[in-house]
Amino acid sequence: MIRLEGIQRRYVSDEVETTALHDIDLHVAAGEFLAIMGPSGCGKSTLLNTLGTVDRPTGGRYMFGDRDLAAMDEKQLARFRAETLGFVFQSFNLIDELTIEENVALGLAYRGDVGDRRGRVAAAMDKVGIAHRARHFPHQLSGGQQQRAAIARAIVGDPKLILADEPTGNLDTANGEQVMNILTGLNDAGATIVMVTHSPSHADLAKRRIDMLDGRIVASAMRAI
Ligand code: ADP
Ligand code: ADP
Repeated sequence: MIRLEGIQRRYVSDEVETTALHDIDLHVAAGEFLAIMGPSGCGKSTLLNTLGTVDRPTGGRYMFGDRDLAAMDEKQLARFRAETLGFVFQSFNLIDELTIEENVALGLAYRGDVGDRRGRVAAAMDKVGIAHRARHFPHQLSGGQQQRAAIARAIVGDPKLILADEPTGNLDTANGEQVMNILTGLNDAGATIVMVTHSPSHADLAKRRIDMLDGRIVASAMRAI
């Protein structure tokens, strides 16, 4: 489904050049659950943001199915993101002034006709066990509940790819496990997931793990079954 070929990302600031990604080759098949690990600064977020098209590579090719993303302008990319991708962040990124169901509905905001919006929102909240919190505001929920709501927002549009950047990084062990259960359940049901994590035990729940160092993929391993 996804092919990155020779992806490079260079930053230049104050005439200091940093190469965050060197010549990354990565294929992600539909139905995969891929974990990305590596020390701080090795390029994990840059790689995830590249997959999410919120960061543009300075070299190489990114094919999503038969679409060459380098050929798209910002407007086309925004539409591609809204239709194809779901994002989950470490800090949840819910909007404090909106209720949980309104936050989840944001996952459909930039979509055209998607049929029964209310039904989709209700189904997504139900899937992550947050339906009883629909009318609450984010600050009324625990961290684990907020992250589950954020996952509902990510999946409400039925994305082809879920990108999760340290989704359990701000959660205690029990809530982290609950979030991982939801992600593995979504993957079992067919979702394709790429997740950055610092937790080896959470990476072990993915089907494949890659390790990065200094902007390169240095190891790749399938989960032993
Ligand atoms: P990780 O997510 O693994 O911690 P990042 O992808 O955030 O790593 O960063 C990889 C490298 O790119 C680091 O050296 C970081 O300092 C650099 N970098 C990231 N974003 C920028 C930016 N906007 N400008 C300059 N350098 C950046
Ligand atoms: P659920 O209600 O879906 O079973 P959890 O087991 O994740 O949710 O929630 C644990 C408890 O923490 C809930 O009863 C929830 O009401 C409560 N809680 C609410 N707000 C907070 C908060 N800000 N921090 C921690 N816990 C909270």
